[in-house]
Amino acid sequence: MQQFYMPVRVVEGAGCVRAAATLIAPLGKCALIVTGRSSKKNGSLDDVVAALEGNGQRYAVFDEVLPNPTIACVRAGAARAKEAGADFVIAIGGGSPMDAAKAIALLARQDIADADLFAGRYSPDVLPMVHIPTTAGTGSEVTQYSILTDDVAESKTSIATPYIFPRLALLDGGYMASLGHNTTVNTAIDALSHAVEGMLSVKAGEVSDLLAKESISIICSLAKKIAADRLAPVDRQKLLYASMLAGMVIANTGTTAVHAMGYSLTYYHEIDHGRANGLLLGAFVAFCAQHLPERTDAILQAGSFESPAAFSQMLADLLGQREALTDAEMKKYAAKAIAAKNIANCAYQPTEAELYQMLKISLEEK
Ligand code: ZN
Repeated sequence: MQQFYMPVRVVEGAGCVRAAATLIAPLGKCALIVTGRSSKKNGSLDDVVAALEGNGQRYAVFDEVLPNPTIACVRAGAARAKEAGADFVIAIGGGSPMDAAKAIALLARQDIADADLFAGRYSPDVLPMVHIPTTAGTGSEVTQYSILTDDVAESKTSIATPYIFPRLALLDGGYMASLGHNTTVNTAIDALSHAVEGMLSVKAGEVSDLLAKESISIICSLAKKIAADRLAPVDRQKLLYASMLAGMVIANTGTTAVHAMGYSLTYYHEIDHGRANGLLLGAFVAFCAQHLPERTDAILQAGSFESPAAFSQMLADLLGQREALTDAEMKKYAAKAIAAKNIANCAYQPTEAELYQMLKISLEEK
């Protein structure tokens, strides 16, 4: 048996936020706009405000979302939503504002204690959401995941419920024109990691594979331009599309060992999420090639690579100098990763010793 679920309406193209304003009109009377700081500079916030004003909708802005949002941050956002009387949420930004917005939309309507926040018992009473990505990486605009930093677990962990799928995703690559080189590289690698991990998931299916292959093909065809920082506007829109496809993949397959290990690199070493995945992805594909050769062949073919080594080389060209960890740190992160919920998604499940090996291959040793 197979299934594929995707309840998000996706609109894409230059100027789509203003052009699709009528789709925002039925969502409510007052929006809480959840964003970081960059939406003021890239034009996205102006477009959203123009769309809301044209519709006669009120709004309040919560722009205190920092990278890797915490529970405290989303609680502050939920309080702001209640105070403003917001009856829907608009998220603008990269993964952090989008993931925070989902938790805010949930917590604005439901009282959930910190200890129960990741336990998965939610009611459908959640504020409806519009998501406007301004980076091409997380795919959060089409997923039911809100990844938050959990200081109790010393890691990132997720709220996962179909109730937090956005209603509408608006994809305008124009907002990425001034995106910094590192952010462009790291987010593209994150999207690639989603597509690749989706194909190595026990939940991979025909539809998710189709989307994943297309996403891998687009991202890998642009890898040289990404590395050289020479993306044209049309390339930015393509990357945003590829990231959205990869988001649809993981909405159905979940992520796997790469994300499970990457969370420790982000939590303990502040390595960007996409970069953390990129550091580990080559070793994971090489590992899977030994056990699931048909799966990895399909991945390599989609990206036009002759071997896992060629795939790793493409990543190496994007990543540059790798970070160094101590042996004890690698052991600790393998032990943490083996207990993560996304390990169970691996189509071939690595042991803790194998995760440790992948970390050793992926990072320098201190
Ligand atoms: Zn990711």
